Amino acid sequence: MSNKWRPATQLVHGGTQRSQHGETSEAIFLTQGFVYDTAEAAEARFKGETDGFIYARYGSPTNDMFEKRMCALEGAEDARATASGMAAVSSAILCQVKAGDHIVAARALFGSCRWVVDTLAPKYGIECTLVDGRDLANWEKAIRPNTKVFFLESPTNPTLEVVDIAGVARLADQIGAKLVVDNVFATPLFQKPLELGAHVVVYSATKHIDGQGRCLGGIVLADKQWIDENLHDYFRHTGPAMSPFNAWTLLKGLETLPLRVKQQTESAARIADFLANRKEIAKVIYPGRKDHPQADIIAKQMSGGSTLVAIELKGGKQAAFQLQNALQVVKISNNLGDAKSLITHPATTTHKNLTDEARAELGISDGTVRLSAGIEDTDDLLADFEQALSRVSA
Ligand SMILES: *Cc1c(COP(=O)(O)O)cnc(C)c1O
Repeated sequence: MSNKWRPATQLVHGGTQRSQHGETSEAIFLTQGFVYDTAEAAEARFKGETDGFIYARYGSPTNDMFEKRMCALEGAEDARATASGMAAVSSAILCQVKAGDHIVAARALFGSCRWVVDTLAPKYGIECTLVDGRDLANWEKAIRPNTKVFFLESPTNPTLEVVDIAGVARLADQIGAKLVVDNVFATPLFQKPLELGAHVVVYSATKHIDGQGRCLGGIVLADKQWIDENLHDYFRHTGPAMSPFNAWTLLKGLETLPLRVKQQTESAARIADFLANRKEIAKVIYPGRKDHPQADIIAKQMSGGSTLVAIELKGGKQAAFQLQNALQVVKISNNLGDAKSLITHPATTTHKNLTDEARAELGISDGTVRLSAGIEDTDDLLADFEQALSRVSA
């Protein structure tokens, strides 16, 4: 297996382990357990003296292929595939902290991620400070003697703010803390957190990696030492393992990831430019546009734009609802990264549990909608927005 391959090649061939049958497409190993030729072989396997699988909660062949393919793409030494993105996030954070430790996290987090750090962790005596992650000084100010973990997403959901990953990683290194980056919105193609200095990367594979709306999945990637010392035992004994069937689905998803993300990004960029010039729209936030408030950081750490666009309508909630209801190709859904274009109104769905004040801090207004561009023909998507906007009262 060559580690010099470019991403598109890794995503088709990386991690493949053919059985004795020489199948073209990766096999699904739907098995809970494994048998040993001899009692001595079982003993050696349990002692770690020989390689091989023991029990599917610990690891299994199809999952192993998915993990190795993701490692090849991400440039990570080791990984664990999990049942969902939240299983990946909660495992990556909780496996490395104990009562008395302190987490600093960006306040602009996917809702469940925010719950894990600021509601769940404190129940176990782990303190958490949420900061406006756009300014490095806020991260520095939040540091305490017991700070062990920094956690961020970039770009953020739904307003596509970015955080200077290399800057936060430097702060973490100065105090011996670990930086965990949720890289879902950037995709593994457009941003490489480990190269930027982050210690752990997590994905919801449910999003672009499956990309076809079929199954949940997640993955935690890091260097081998961090996995061995932190995640290895936690993962075996708390049981967030991915189903081998889902690992297979996600392996197939990885093969077409670059093709889909390229098309989605091109459409998102063209839709963002189209909407930016419309009188019904107050503001478009798109990481590929020069008018993004943090375009300089984006140029430093991302190699592509985004499949997502944040759109603020002048007419508030009424206009946002009119737009969503009038769209025909674009479906109303809180999911993202799908082959189908999806639009959501964060204030009444994904971010409804936040206070008005917290929503305002994140730049979410009643007129904000988030578009996830799919792989439909871009011209059909533009025509859909054109006809839908004609039904929006200004
Ligand atoms: C969807 C998502 C998650 C959670 O993933 P699930 O697979 O739904 O559990 C975590 N972080 C981000 C940024 C997400 O978009």
